[in-house]
Amino acid sequence: MPQTEGRNLAVDTAPVPIEKIASLAKRRGFVYPNSEIYGGVSGIYDFGPLGVELRNNIRRYWWWSMVQTNDNVVGIEGAIITHPRVWEASGHVDNFVDRLVDCKNCKRRYRIDHLPPENLEQNTCPECGGELTEPRNFNLMMETYVGVIEGDKAKTYLRGEACQNIYLDYDNVRSSSRLQIPFGICQIGKAFRNEVTPGNFLFRQREFEQWDLQFFVHPSEMQRWFDYWKHRRFEWYKGILNHGDRLRLRAHAPDELAHYAKQAFDIEYRSILGWQEWEGIHWRQDWDLSRHSQYSGKDLSYTDPATKEKYVPWIVETSGGVDRTFFFLLLDAYEEEPDAAAGKEPRTVLHLHPTLAPIKAAVLPLQKNNAELVTAATALHKRLQRQMVSQYDDSGSIGRRYRRQDEIGTPYCVTVDFQTLEDQTVTVRERDSMDQIRLHVSELPPYLSEHTLQFSAYDGDS
Ligand code: ATP
Repeated sequence: MPQTEGRNLAVDTAPVPIEKIASLAKRRGFVYPNSEIYGGVSGIYDFGPLGVELRNNIRRYWWWSMVQTNDNVVGIEGAIITHPRVWEASGHVDNFVDRLVDCKNCKRRYRIDHLPPENLEQNTCPECGGELTEPRNFNLMMETYVGVIEGDKAKTYLRGEACQNIYLDYDNVRSSSRLQIPFGICQIGKAFRNEVTPGNFLFRQREFEQWDLQFFVHPSEMQRWFDYWKHRRFEWYKGILNHGDRLRLRAHAPDELAHYAKQAFDIEYRSILGWQEWEGIHWRQDWDLSRHSQYSGKDLSYTDPATKEKYVPWIVETSGGVDRTFFFLLLDAYEEEPDAAAGKEPRTVLHLHPTLAPIKAAVLPLQKNNAELVTAATALHKRLQRQMVSQYDDSGSIGRRYRRQDEIGTPYCVTVDFQTLEDQTVTVRERDSMDQIRLHVSELPPYLSEHTLQFSAYDGDS
């Protein structure tokens, strides 16, 4: 993937309304409102046939670049439910709160930290100007109960952030993997928050998925590794965007920093919602391991095998979201291209990176009622399916079929026509340029795999 400037396809720069993305996502099977037939649950979504492919590709690419290609990073998959003390040690039971105000007039509810400064100062509603109530605290943790006998059930929580499992498993991972500091542990997993103001489609949900790296270092090496991962994660996001100019790193102001953090950055994306957090790069120092040592009674310090120095490792954290990536990628990829031919509908296209696109190739017989074309196209589709997600489509004109695939981001359409029957070549049409080339069917699988399955990423060394 290109490394620094984004993919910079010639796409429209106007911000895409969220309704357009939500409607396409539902119509084409990316995302559905959860429990819709019962009226839905605010802030919870299901992913459809194309959505699950896109999510899997996004997750795979992150895992490939964070775990598979780094010798000093390994992965875990922790449980959603943990011992309740974990959330006391982490501070979530006492402090994981949103401070909220309600408008006394229009009854809208706001998080105080999301109010524009002038409304905060004047205590007025940004929508109607009405007076706001005193702030109240809402804890975001979702409670659940473990056990079967009433009275013996223990209250615990669905994890409010996925990364706690990494601290809990840190010592097991270190000893079972024979890793020495510096090293990192990654995880992708669900997190749950009783967000009081869920909304903007996938942006703020109550059940969502996070990806975290916790990188354990000697205190003297903290700054170097912090800078390294900050840079690397920024380049990673840039490499999957069409609009590199919509990405920025924002340093946290002193009053946003946790007491143990020397610095923190958000990687932010600019959409119709303005600049919003996509991933946080955090200086966690020894806070997490020290707290879990204190609360559990288990010493989580590390002894350097060479120098015999004993210390609690410091941590660089990179914490982002699968759902925000999914959402921002759709916003970033969506375009309605005017069609040059008079009277034609604009072409709706998702310029998703080919390695992330849910369907890699669509195989289209030129005519659906010609048995020879259908047989050849079906055989080709079956052959491609062994390596990648391929879709067979024979309904409607070729033009309409191209449009259908453009709208879901399929990078290549392969047309089987009469010439195919004579010389075994097919037309391969690329989504963004709409250029067409002819390839022999034996060349097609390697061509498509090179263009749609190969990951490449910034390796951090330059
Ligand atoms: P915010 O300030 O927006 O509430 P946060 O700072 O609490 O977010 P973190 O706890 O740092 O977020 O979570 C790490 C990442 O998880 C975020 O960068 C974001 O990508 C994702 N994330 C957090 N909350 C949500 C949510 N409610 N819905 C979807 N993704 C989320």
